[in-house]
Amino acid sequence: MATHHIPDGLPSSIRHYIDGRFVDSVDGDTFDVLDPVSNETYATAAAGKKADIDLAVAAATRAFVDGPWPRMLPRARARILGRIADAVEAQDARLAELETFDTGLPITQALGQAQRAAENFRFFADLIVAQADDAFTVPGRQLNYVHRKPIGVAGLITPWNTPFMLESWKLAPALASGCTVVLKPAEFTPLSAGLWATIFEEAGLPPGVFNLVNGLGEEAGDALVKHPDVPLISFTGESTTGRIIFANAAESLKGLSMELGGKSPAVVFADADLDAAIDSTLFGVFSLNGERCTAGSRILVQREIYDEFVERFAERARRIVVGDPHDPATEVGALVHPEHYDKVMGYVEIGRSEGRLVAGGGRPDGFESGNYVAPTVFADVKPDARIFQEEIFGPVVAITPFGSDAEALELANDTRYGLAAYLWTRDLERAHTFAHAVEAGMVWLNSHNVRDLRTPFGGVKASGLGQEGGYRSIDFYTDQQAVHITV
Ligand code: NAD
Repeated sequence: MATHHIPDGLPSSIRHYIDGRFVDSVDGDTFDVLDPVSNETYATAAAGKKADIDLAVAAATRAFVDGPWPRMLPRARARILGRIADAVEAQDARLAELETFDTGLPITQALGQAQRAAENFRFFADLIVAQADDAFTVPGRQLNYVHRKPIGVAGLITPWNTPFMLESWKLAPALASGCTVVLKPAEFTPLSAGLWATIFEEAGLPPGVFNLVNGLGEEAGDALVKHPDVPLISFTGESTTGRIIFANAAESLKGLSMELGGKSPAVVFADADLDAAIDSTLFGVFSLNGERCTAGSRILVQREIYDEFVERFAERARRIVVGDPHDPATEVGALVHPEHYDKVMGYVEIGRSEGRLVAGGGRPDGFESGNYVAPTVFADVKPDARIFQEEIFGPVVAITPFGSDAEALELANDTRYGLAAYLWTRDLERAHTFAHAVEAGMVWLNSHNVRDLRTPFGGVKASGLGQEGGYRSIDFYTDQQAVHITV
C-alpha cells in the first residue's frame, strides 16, 4: 500500500468559533480526534458543554437582534454568499485533502463534495434574490400579503459522513434566510468545520452570525437542542438520535427538520439495461465508502436475471480498489472511526449466517491496520435478516430475489426506513406506478443519485421529518406572517 499522506499544516488543537473568535471550552476540556488510516490521535478538539453553547447562542442572538445580517437586502446577502462559494471553490483541493484525511473518503470523491458545498451557497444565493411571496386581493375589501421573516438562531447538528458538504446544506439556506447560526459538527470529523470561520470572515459575514461549538452529541448537541433561545434545529444523523432530539425539543416546542437513516432498495427488473443497472448499483452502495444515507444497500433483483446479476455484481465488487484515501486510484478508503469499523464488521459476521457471501467478507488482504473493509456482497438474503432491515452504513450490500412487481414492492417497503429508492426497468408505466407506491422520499428511475437542488430532499417513515430543498429550505428557516389590510 502507498505511504499514508498527512496534509501539511494540520492543527494540533481544534477550537470553537464564537462571536468572531476562536476559543477553547470554558472548562478547558478536550476530546481526541483520530486519523482513520492510522487510528492515531492527530489533534484534540475542544469539548463543548452547556456553558459553551450558552456563549454561542448569546453571540448569535446579539447578531440577530442588533446586527445587520437579518436586515440586509437579499441581494446584499447573496453577494456575500457568492463570495463564500467562490472561496470554497478556490480551495476545493485543500478542503478535499483535509476531508479525506479526517473521514477516510477517497480523495476523488471528497473533491466532488467540496464542489457541491460551493454549489449549495450559489444556489441559495440565487434563490433568495428570486424569492416572491404571495399576495391576495379581495376586490374592494382587503389586500392580504405574506411578510417573510428569518426565525432567529438556527441550531445545526451534522453527521460525520461528507461533513463539509452536509454542513453547507444547512448553513447556506439558514444564512441566506437571514438567520444566525450555531453549528455543532460531528465529533468524529471536526477538522473541516473550522475552515468555515475563515471563509465566512473573509467573505464579509458579520461577526456573531456564524458560531461553531465542537463536542459530543450528548453534551454540546444536547445543550443546543434544549436551549430556550434556539427556535429551530436542523438535524442530520441516525434515526435513534433523531428520536432523542425530537423528545428533547418538545419542552421548547422547536421547529425540527430531520434527515435520518436509510436502508434504500435498488430494484432491478428483468427488462432493465443490465450493464447500466450494475454500474449504478455498485456506485450506489460502494461510493463514499458506503457511508451514505441514500446508499442502495438492499438490491432486489427479478428471478429471471438473478443469477447473472449476482455473478456479475460480485465479480465487479471484488475488483473495486480499496486503498489509502489520498491515492487517486482508490475507490473505497478507510471507514471513519474504529467504533464504526467494529459496527460494520459486526454486520459482516452476522451476514455470514444470514446470506451467501459472494464478495469481500472482512479486512482486505494486505491491510493490517486502519479501518478497511473489503466491499462485501451477500446474496439470497431473506427480508427478516438483520442485514436486510438495519442500516449498516458501510460497504456491505444484501441482494434478494423477487418474482412479481407486487413482491418487489412488498420487499422494498418492508423496512422501517423510507429515504430513497432506485428502479431499473425499461417499462415506463411500471416505473412510474412503482415509484408512486414505494415508501421513499426520493426515487431515481434508471439513474444515479444525482441531486437537483430545487427538488425536495428528505425521507418518510423513520428516515426523516420534513423536507428541505429549494424553497422548502427557505420556508423552514423563515416565519411567514400574514398581513391583512382593508382597502
Ligand atoms: P449520529 O446521530 O450519531 O450523530 C449526528 C450528530 O448528532 C452528531 O453531531 C452528534 O454529535 C449529534 N448528537 C448525537 N447525540 C445527540 C443528542 N442526544 N442530542 C443532540 N445531538 C446529538 O449520526 P452519525 O453517526 O454522525 O451519522 C450517520 C447517520 O446519519 C446515518 O444514520 C445516516 O443515514 C444519517 N444521515 C442521514 C442523511 C440524510 O440526509 N437523511 C445524510 C447523512 C447522514
